[in-house]
Amino acid sequence: MEIINDLADIVALIGEGKLTLYGAGKVARGLLKIMPELELEIEKIFVSDKEGNPDTLCSIPIVQIENETFAESPKTLIIATTPVKALPILRFVQKHLPDTRVLLLSEELSKRCVEETALKRWASTFKPHVLPTYEVTISEHCNLNCAGCNHLSNLAKPRFVDRDTLKRDMVQIHKVHGDVPRIGIMGGEPLLHPDIIEILKDARDVFPESRLLLSTNGVLCKKMGENFWNLCRDLNITIRFTRYPIKVDYDALIEELLQRGIEVDFFASAIEPMSEFQSIALDIKGECDPVESFRGCGFANRCTVVVDGRMYPCPIVQNAHFFSDSFGYQLKIENKDYIDIYKTDENETLQFLSRPIPFCRYCDVRKRRDLSFMWRTSGKNPYEWCDFTFNSIDIRFLKNKCVYIYGAGNWGRQTLSVLSKKRIPVKSFIVSEMDDNQPSIKGVPIKVLDDVKFEKNAFCVIAVYSKEARKEIQKGLIDKGIKNFVVLNRYPG
Ligand code: SF4
Repeated sequence: MEIINDLADIVALIGEGKLTLYGAGKVARGLLKIMPELELEIEKIFVSDKEGNPDTLCSIPIVQIENETFAESPKTLIIATTPVKALPILRFVQKHLPDTRVLLLSEELSKRCVEETALKRWASTFKPHVLPTYEVTISEHCNLNCAGCNHLSNLAKPRFVDRDTLKRDMVQIHKVHGDVPRIGIMGGEPLLHPDIIEILKDARDVFPESRLLLSTNGVLCKKMGENFWNLCRDLNITIRFTRYPIKVDYDALIEELLQRGIEVDFFASAIEPMSEFQSIALDIKGECDPVESFRGCGFANRCTVVVDGRMYPCPIVQNAHFFSDSFGYQLKIENKDYIDIYKTDENETLQFLSRPIPFCRYCDVRKRRDLSFMWRTSGKNPYEWCDFTFNSIDIRFLKNKCVYIYGAGNWGRQTLSVLSKKRIPVKSFIVSEMDDNQPSIKGVPIKVLDDVKFEKNAFCVIAVYSKEARKEIQKGLIDKGIKNFVVLNRYPG
């Protein structure tokens, strides 16, 4: 008997032929819903007692196991009940079906089968499938400097990918995967590339049938000449905007492009600017469970990136070296984190993309939503990409900073107490209104935001309980030109 801990173990049964299932309760029903997604076929469902069960479930016959005359033992039986209920059937199988491979769902997985929505999404994450999109990076740097950029482009040194290398890579992708439905031409900011016109021609040459999407922040659009726009129209290139809260008149731009007969598309919202960013939440110690990270990751098996002959399952691992180089951390990138597109076939590639990579241990995906923050230009501090927890690395980072604490309530006081113990001086507390605040706490003055004259190396720790207030505070700091701050999302300590 084998215990199945993870959906990946079920995915591994693809190609094993028809399966049998034991159980017709909630766990089994949850599991059955994802079987078609995984293209796994269940031949028969066994139960101990037929009473109270229908004749079929998802058109699969339900049979009382003791009434079955097994001409031959089923090859594989998945026991889809809670482990406690599995004991009698395990005894039965040991006695009557010794040649059957028995797979028992772990307690955790059986619980998750009941939450079938999550399960469906995981099934799609772990399933090798023909991806609709490949992204090719053509310039690593960007002309915007977004805090926490998930391509880490604001940490990249200017670098354009060589046109010939790029064309060779695209030819190889086409050779292996054929006319991929969509090819994303990405950066950094791709419009910075001096050979952008030739690159678009190459891309269309190689992928005559694919939808070609050029992703841009729009900043350079006004400077692109007639030639460029005519080419986009003639080669049927879709311009894909991300609307940032910057001084670009996206509406006018879009109107102009549409009038030119160019197709327009959007990342995120077509109307609203991206005012909030979700952190990629790196765990710089690499202590996360890669399977857990991969399972909850929005990039996994969806955002394939190709650059310089290597295929990565996400832009994070492709660009993580920028983070290490900028802040002196060692996020290790191994050979197993990418594949050489010249040494693999389609099947191997799709298998690779549907499995966690070693680097997934650096992604604390559960924290991603919690660590979201208001869009701002980057102060290039590591906490745009990872959580601030007052650990020794964080404290070392604060040593040469002038620290302010936003918030003088419980959270703010506790922050002061933690920092004092670590011998980090605090310049002042900041509050939005003085209200009934005292002028100082433990000798540290309390000031309203407008009265604070921030030092050049200012670093602000936002320590307030209310999530709504945290947003307003960020806006206030951004308006004051403060880029370096962290938002605590749990009680400090
Ligand atoms: S390394 Fe893994 S978990 Fe992290 S973003 Fe990439 S695919 Fe997702």
